[in-house]
Amino acid sequence: MRGETKLKKKLNKKELADFKKAVLKRKEEIMREIKHISEDTLKKSQKEASGDISGYTYHMADVATDNYDREFSLGLASNDRKLLYELEDALKRIEDGTFGICQSCGCVIARTRLKAVPQATLCIKCQEKKEKR
Ligand SMILES: [Zn+2]
Repeated sequence: MRGETKLKKKLNKKELADFKKAVLKRKEEIMREIKHISEDTLKKSQKEASGDISGYTYHMADVATDNYDREFSLGLASNDRKLLYELEDALKRIEDGTFGICQSCGCVIARTRLKAVPQATLCIKCQEKKEKR
């Protein structure tokens, strides 16, 4: 039964090629984003290192904001890195032909879901089950 469903709905070569393009594009965007964030964080560190000699009063607040910003940026960058890793993995799965197949139940993941989340490894049902746990 399950095998039959797989054969019926499995992604064809053209669909796989389209998903590959979409994944590569998303990867590029994220790499650009990561580069942007690290440049931004670097600039801020350099500014601090150059030693701002302005008054004490607002300096403390300034430092707090900068630290917060940096933590926020780093958190964002690490999310991006995780996503990048997942996209790399999706590319591998496109190559070996397991792309679009749920790693939990083996069914074919819905096209609409893959278009929104190409790096998805679970079908929507399995994802929901996982999140409820
Ligand atoms: Zn599933």
